[in-house]
Amino acid sequence: MPSRSLRVAVIGAGAAGLVAARELRREGHAPVVFERTDGVGGTWVYEDADADASASTDPLRSRRSNLYASLRTNLPRECMGFLDFPFAAAAAGPDDDPRRFPGHAEVLRYLREFARRFDLLGLVRFQTEVVRVSREASESWRVRYSKKEAGSEKREPEEEVFDAVVVCNGHYYQTRVADIAGLEAWPGKQLHSNSYRVPEPFHGQAVVLIGCSVSGMDISRDIAGVAKEVHVVDRSAPAATYQRLPGDHTNLWIHSMVDRAEQDGSVVFQDGSRVKADVIIHCTGYKYSFPFLGDDSTISVDDNRVGPLYKHVFPPRVAPQLSFIGLPLRVIPFALFELQSNWVAGVLSGRIELPSEEEMTREVMAFYSDLDACGWPRRYTHVLGDFEFKYEEWLAGQCRREKIEDWRKEMYAAAVKDNMDHHGSYRDMWDDGYRDHLLVQANRDFALYFP
Ligand code: FAD
Repeated sequence: MPSRSLRVAVIGAGAAGLVAARELRREGHAPVVFERTDGVGGTWVYEDADADASASTDPLRSRRSNLYASLRTNLPRECMGFLDFPFAAAAAGPDDDPRRFPGHAEVLRYLREFARRFDLLGLVRFQTEVVRVSREASESWRVRYSKKEAGSEKREPEEEVFDAVVVCNGHYYQTRVADIAGLEAWPGKQLHSNSYRVPEPFHGQAVVLIGCSVSGMDISRDIAGVAKEVHVVDRSAPAATYQRLPGDHTNLWIHSMVDRAEQDGSVVFQDGSRVKADVIIHCTGYKYSFPFLGDDSTISVDDNRVGPLYKHVFPPRVAPQLSFIGLPLRVIPFALFELQSNWVAGVLSGRIELPSEEEMTREVMAFYSDLDACGWPRRYTHVLGDFEFKYEEWLAGQCRREKIEDWRKEMYAAAVKDNMDHHGSYRDMWDDGYRDHLLVQANRDFALYFP
């Protein structure tokens, strides 16, 4: 049984903040969610390219929204949803998108429905940005926030003290761009993938696209339909790489890393080949950023390692009063957020015990040494990949909850593999019938929630 009920500030009302608020309240705490925009859903709120007019005119700037119009999920909806609130097509109404890999608007609809179903909207203070979180002598946290007044940009900073803070501010905001020799004098246009919305502006152009993660591959195919040619750069490819990508597009090429950009508009690759490009699109990801935290948080970000953090969640010196939900990458995000949130809520109430500060610190240091020993770059500290399910099993064990369902793991593994093998078509291949057994198992479990 919970023994402590705390007043907890949750920063952000994306998927992580919403499920954190739900788990905290279920555990008997009183969460207050701060959200700087006027709605829930975070990443999944689509905005047109020029909607973010208040931002600077720098084409590589960080933007609030980073979805492109054609974006569909990269996971089958059944495995993407929260554990006890299925993201099932059966739940979709006539105006919704019933596809197995639906478009982004369907995910936002699902998150809004989650907030309504669990009565979370009343916990959220919209248009309220947390600008500073500082530690009090009593081990509580002073949260300074500024509120956007209706119809005006004026923000009045206010402060409140909370027993604990859960950081759910997302990590697809602060952009990272490729560092390429000669770019300052290169005359073409540059943008980060977070500004990309639709292919039309690239009609007839030669585009170099740096990065071949999910977004990079999606955007390259989107643009190849209208562009003269699209050259995708895979920085981990051997230097001699220069070949046409298989699929419907005859103007889509893959290269090794860019060596330099030149004043005449050329982009030169490591194998010496060159193209005259009109545009470079940086699909190079994002940096973790916590502008509201100071040294008293005990946290720093070093080459994209947020640390020290015990199990990617608690900074040992200030645990459990400060925690982070949603840092791991290459995971099934919503399920992981839910387990982390359940763990944080249980630790705060006293239902679940944390090791001592010394033990947690020792474990974090041992984890970093292991990463170093196997040559895992620091910037991938939070990339779980193959370790995801072990980590989630550990969390479920701490929370005394059921482990993640086997069908969910298998669906995830199949989607990752399909994505690599058949990037252009994997989303529409799923329904060919050979994975029906996974859907049968998922739907059987979902029947518990949709009787
Ligand atoms: P966010 O959604 O970023 O939410 C953070 C919230 O915090 C925002 O609402 C923000 O306004 C608020 N905030 C930030 N700072 C402050 C502050 N100082 N004060 C107050 N509020 C603040 N995941 C999948 O499962 N499937 C997919 O197919 C998939 N596709 C993706 C495609 C793209 C292009 C991207 C970028 C991500 C994708 N993801 C996908 C991952 C996705 O980001 C996660 O699923 C999840 O939505 C992240 O939720 P979050 O709450 O951690 O962060």
